[in-house]
Amino acid sequence: MRVRALYNDGRRAATHRVTVAIDETGLIVMTGDERRVALWPAGRLRLVERPPGRGPFRVACAEIDGRLTFAAPVLENLHEYYPRLPDREGIDLLGWAKMAGWAAGALIFLLVAFNLATAGLARQAAALVPQAAASALGDRLAGQIVASLAEREARPVDAMTCAQPEALAALGELLGILAQGPGREVGFAVRAIDTAEADLLALPGGQILLSGGAVAAAGDAETLAGLLAHQIGHVALDHPTARLLRTDPAGTLFALTADGAAGGAFSASLAVQLRRLPHEDGAERAADRFAVQLLNHVGVVAGPYAAWRATGSAVPGPGFTTLHPTDADDAEALRRSGIGQYAALAPERWQALAGLCR
Ligand SMILES: [Zn+2]
Repeated sequence: MRVRALYNDGRRAATHRVTVAIDETGLIVMTGDERRVALWPAGRLRLVERPPGRGPFRVACAEIDGRLTFAAPVLENLHEYYPRLPDREGIDLLGWAKMAGWAAGALIFLLVAFNLATAGLARQAAALVPQAAASALGDRLAGQIVASLAEREARPVDAMTCAQPEALAALGELLGILAQGPGREVGFAVRAIDTAEADLLALPGGQILLSGGAVAAAGDAETLAGLLAHQIGHVALDHPTARLLRTDPAGTLFALTADGAAGGAFSASLAVQLRRLPHEDGAERAADRFAVQLLNHVGVVAGPYAAWRATGSAVPGPGFTTLHPTDADDAEALRRSGIGQYAALAPERWQALAGLCR
């Protein structure tokens, strides 16, 4: 759908009348002559000013300058497309403790005070972290990871977001299929990033980073479906938050509760750790079991993903492949438990998706 809005680019004082196209992938800001001036991905949108009553409200996008001002009724439309559109206000410790309840507070206290960072305890604590806090941390981590990739490639951060309509539509189709499976209650969102590095990473709160390089490394739609299903498994099983709580309980607690520069500093170090550290023992097998269940549920063949898991370490890329060492026995077990018979996408749809970020 399209609505009218006022747009300020965050660099000059002037505001402009614009048309904003709203769909599942995000907001496209267009001038009167249909020229695109900004693309704000859904997972990065924030309500920054929402006055009481029926006044106009403002929306921002993480890591991108600028503000959009909408008339009050549009808020309902935005919530339709993005049910969990977060407020920008940070989550204060007290509010968070109230939300999480005393059980979570006690667990976190144990983790921090005694550094009892055992895998089981970290997972229990992770399950008690409120979704809003996990999402806020995940968004910040995503921003920092994308910013570090941009810096390494000497490109502007804005240029790291994939914005090819056909490829994104094909990706949306694949995600729509995967969302019919056991991950549907989980609430995951995939953010496509434009880098040749094969990166694929699940973050706290359900955001999954997918690079153009990972799509290329997958090689076909069924393997990519398996790789994404594996990440959805990590999300469903609270692995990303558990991994952070286990490796750096105090830093994770501060990153979950602090806002602004302090929270940013904590999450910057977590962002580095998240891409290096393996999950706890058994987490990868659990995510693989989840992946095959999901593929079976939606009828997609598991063989290509199993084959990739047997040989995937040959694919370059620091994030995903080093964290997922291959195992021929595991791969064979995956192949045998797959009962799906269908392709994940029609060949021409995969061709469109394979060109993601190129
Ligand atoms: Zn994994």
